[in-house]
This record gives sequence, structure tokens and C-alpha cells, in this order.
Amino acid sequence: MRYSGFKVFLEGLTGNRGWKPAWRDPEPKSDYDVIIIGGGGHGLSTAYYLSKVYGVRNVAVLEKGWLGSGNIGRNTTIIRSNYMLPGNEPFYEFSLKLWEGLEQDFNYNAMISQRSILNLFHSDPQRDAFVRRANAMMLAGADAELADEAQLRRELPFLDFDNARFPIKGGLFQRRGGTVRHDAVAWGYARGADAEGVDIIQNCEVTGFQIENGICKGVQTTKGAINAKKIAVCVAGSSGRVMAMAGMRLPIESHVLQAFVSEGLKPVLPGVITFGAGHFYVSQSDKGGLVFGGDIDAYNSYAQRGNLPVVEDVAEGGMAIMPMIGRARLLRSWGGIMDMSMDGSPFIDKTHIGGLYFNGGWCYGGFKATPASGYCYAHLLAKDEPHPVATEMRLDRFKRGHLIDEKGQGNQPNLH
Ligand SMILES: Cc1cc2nc3c(=O)[nH]c(=O)nc-3n(C[C@H](O)[C@H](O)[C@H](O)COP(=O)(O)OP(=O)(O)OC[C@H]3O[C@@H](n4cnc5c(N)ncnc54)[C@H](O)[C@@H]3O)c2cc1C
Repeated sequence: MRYSGFKVFLEGLTGNRGWKPAWRDPEPKSDYDVIIIGGGGHGLSTAYYLSKVYGVRNVAVLEKGWLGSGNIGRNTTIIRSNYMLPGNEPFYEFSLKLWEGLEQDFNYNAMISQRSILNLFHSDPQRDAFVRRANAMMLAGADAELADEAQLRRELPFLDFDNARFPIKGGLFQRRGGTVRHDAVAWGYARGADAEGVDIIQNCEVTGFQIENGICKGVQTTKGAINAKKIAVCVAGSSGRVMAMAGMRLPIESHVLQAFVSEGLKPVLPGVITFGAGHFYVSQSDKGGLVFGGDIDAYNSYAQRGNLPVVEDVAEGGMAIMPMIGRARLLRSWGGIMDMSMDGSPFIDKTHIGGLYFNGGWCYGGFKATPASGYCYAHLLAKDEPHPVATEMRLDRFKRGHLIDEKGQGNQPNLH
């Protein structure tokens, strides 16, 4: 069923009796060409592009909970492509271009809003670093715009420019950055993949792999054993746990990242704003709530809730750039499990086990990557070679010394 304004109008006149479930609820078959483990944003987009672009339709997505129960439904919805390194920037720009056509492509309203992202800088060396980043972005075909303090004072008068410790000296805009309704992305991809024939199986946890003579032939699940020619792991914060069942250790640690939403306010923030002297970022949802977050909780955890010291740290970051936030009441907070890689960059790769593929290490930046991650993972699964924009996202890059260390923090997942 295609969605359209006309369809909404027609259903409104006829008692809304014609709507159908957006995807089927099938029982798993005994065999598939490809099994995707994890029905988050990345798993569902992989299934969508695998079936729609690469024509592989005998596919199942196995999700242990319900669609949207993981990070795809927990993130702060920011999309952007303001990266610098060659291993990253073309990939994220590809992703942003896919976002720009996504709603028409999968015929679903994901509330994609290119309301801009602004990274503030607070010192001369930081400005130089941002100029370098802006040049790298433009070389990769992305948009970037440097703003000085006078321009920001005009555009965003509520910021605290005169904070003696963190004076705002300007910022780097990416006007095409913005926000997307996160769970609608999962629903849109699920609906699109289902329409291509993909089986989306919820409440089906993978509990083991069937590996014979170095080849992965299927999985054990809470709904029984299922065979497949290719198994694609895509479980974000659970990457370490799931790959351990295949006997693999990953260069990934799991940490909690928290998010916060204030009560609804009148429109005040035109776009996404990030603090350059600490870790704090904020946008305003269409309902009026300020949506914000900051650092991960530094300890390792698989809990989907965090701790108070980070709440204090995030609140301090907010107060440092926009003191008016101190008058807003906090409505909700929650946490998600981040798959923090050692250099802060992801993996889309084969493993040493035949037929077993891995996608993960997205840290706290994987939402914006959802379209490109799925597209590139589908490409790898269909052709057994990396997509041209994902050639550096290999599991052996630490062994080879080819880190994609975007932040220059070294092998420190808690700093990325
Ligand atoms: C608070 C917060 C804020 C964030 N903000 C942003 C942001 O603003 N911008 C941005 O780009 N990124 C952001 N992120 C990061 C982003 O959300 C993640 O990197 C991305 O969603 C991870 O990919 P996913 O959607 O596939 O993960 P998930 O939705 O977590 O999907 C993984 C799925 O695998 C399932 N699974 C796990 N184990 C098994 C098993 N054994 N069998 C079957 N299924 C299993 C899980 O149930 C889960 O549904 C944020 C994350 C959080 C938590």
C-alpha cells in the first residue's frame, strides 16, 4: 500500500478502515540466503537495500526484542556529514545524500529536517582545526560554512558569548545537517524491506552460531535453528556479546550514552548546536522539547540507563553555552548501549569465518550513518567486496596500523 496525501484524505472520509499493518509478522523459514541479526536501523536498512538495490530477497531480519527497542529508538536524531578523514567523510556524505532522498525512496514520512548543525569553537587553534575540517568537507563535496562571532551574535543571541572561561569565537555550520524522527526510520525501512519480501521476525533472539569447518551455516535462535548462506551481524551495543558466540573478540567496548528531553518550549533553537569546549549538543524537537546529551558514562556496561555524574556533566555543558536552559524542566532521560570502537570509527567487513559478516563499532554516531551503513553492508553481502566509500572500515585496521582516528584521541574508546 502506497502512502500519499490523497490516501490520507480518502481514509479520512471512509472511517480509516483501509489501513493495513506496515509489515507482516511471519514465522521464520528453515533456510534463507541471508540472515541479518539485529532489527535496529542498520539491520533494517541493510535488508531494504539488499532486497531493493541488490535483488537479494530471500532474507530474514532476526530481532530479539521489538523494532526500535535499541539505539535506533534512543538516539538524539542528529544527522550530518562534517567529518574530516578520507576513510570517513565520503561515507558520511553518501549517507547524507541518501537521507535527502529517503522519504520519497521508501515512501514514508521520517520527518527529515535539514535545520543545520553548528559546531561552536572557543579558541584560535580550535578555529584553525575547524577551517581544516571545513576544507576537507568541501573537497568531499559536502557543504561547510564558517561563521564568526558577530554572525553568531546576530543569529543566536541566546548563547553566552561572554563566558570568561569558554568565550564563543565562532562556529562551523553544516546547513544540510539536521534531525530525523528516529523510530520512523526503523518503521520506514521495515515497511520497505517487507514490501520487497524480507521476513522481519521480532522476539527472535540469536543464541548461537552453527559453525562447521570454519564456515558459518546458520544460527540457533529462541525460535529454533535457521540456516543461511550468509549471516550478517548488526547488533550495535551487543556486538561484543554476539560475536563472542562465534568465538571472536572485537576491538569494541560497550558503554552507556544518555539522552535528555526538556518540557516543551516555544521555538527557540533553529538547528543543532554543539559545545566545543566540553561535550554537549542540543536541538529542539517539533513538539518543543530541548533534546540534548553529552559524554558516555565512562565505565563498561550493558544497561540501558546511566548514572548521575554524567547528568551533572551534561547539565554543566548546557549551562556553559546557553544559561537559559537552566530554567527548563527536565522531562525524561534514558540510555542506550554504545558499541565504542578503539579509534571511534566503525566496521563493515567480512570476518575470518566463512559466511559471517560484521557491522558495528558505530560509537555514538551511527544514526546518521543508517542509510549508508545499510547500503554498504548490502553491497558487501551481495558482491563480497567493500563498497567504494567503505573500503577503510576493516576489522584488521589496528593490526595494519591504519586507524581512522577522526578525533586524534588514540586507542581510547571512552574518549571518542
Ligand atoms: C542516547 C543516544 C544518543 C545518540 N545520538 C545520536 C545522534 O544524535 N546521531 C547519531 O548519528 N547517532 C546517535 N546515536 C548512536 C546511534 O543511535 C547508534 O549508533 C545506532 O542507532 C546503532 O545502530 P542500530 O540502529 O542498528 O542499533 P540498534 O537499534 O541498537 O539495533 C541493534 C539491534 O540488535 C538487537 N540484538 C542484539 N542482540 C541480539 C541477538 N542476540 N539476537 C537478535 N537481535 C539482537 C537489539 O535488540 C537491537 O534492536 C545515539 C545513541 C544513543 C544511545
